[in-house]
Amino acid sequence: MYIDTHTHLYEEQLNADETDMIQRAIDAGVGKMYMPNCDSSTIAAMMRIAAAWPANCYPMMGLHPCYVKDNYKDELAIAEAWLAKEKFYALGEIGLDYYWDKTHVAQQKQAFATQIDWALQHKLPIVIHSRESTQDCIDIVRGKQNGQLCGVFHCFSGTIDEAKQIIDLGFYLGIGGVVTFKKSTLPDIIKETGLQHIVLETDAPYLAPMPYRGKRNESAYLPLIAEKIGDVMQMSREEVARITTANAEKLFGC
Ligand SMILES: [Zn+2]
Repeated sequence: MYIDTHTHLYEEQLNADETDMIQRAIDAGVGKMYMPNCDSSTIAAMMRIAAAWPANCYPMMGLHPCYVKDNYKDELAIAEAWLAKEKFYALGEIGLDYYWDKTHVAQQKQAFATQIDWALQHKLPIVIHSRESTQDCIDIVRGKQNGQLCGVFHCFSGTIDEAKQIIDLGFYLGIGGVVTFKKSTLPDIIKETGLQHIVLETDAPYLAPMPYRGKRNESAYLPLIAEKIGDVMQMSREEVARITTANAEKLFGC
């Protein structure tokens, strides 16, 4: 019924009750969960979960921009080797992050471009992390868009103009718990774009939706995000689930 397009199920804060947590999500109707990778240190735990839940939990491969440091070429080589030997469902998460640290912006851009090229070679979607860097990410995607590139701007936090540019590129907007926060501008953006280009995500264990804001997030909370979007769009939670799940199937099948 629901697809969580972005959840870090392997994070340490989720280890203690991992099996129960994943089962809670499935019981809540979240039948598929897509796991973005961060760097070489997160691969083993992610692959272990993917092997334990083959019908529910799907891994991505990629180097997260916050983990692009001086050794990024070594990290990229590890990701590339994994891509060659295992099945992954996207390149992710990849992109640019200007919020935490701008020391390695040039390297971030290089790593992003390289991984987009891999996505095109492997015919995989890309899952983009764009914190305070949405327009730069859009410009890089536009430069690479040859009609074959597809993907999602995960945890979209840009303007309505940026949302429209992303949709024009054939990309999806990933919407999570932030839409439930009081001062969020996302409800207005969604009203204007409609749901045809929206997919749902939790980004667990981060960014829990209301009423769990500030607490540990988990994929079982995804229906709370659908509920809020339903309020915004004046439709039922089930209708939101139907549309966004179809979008997510298209995204990961593109
Ligand atoms: Zn993430």
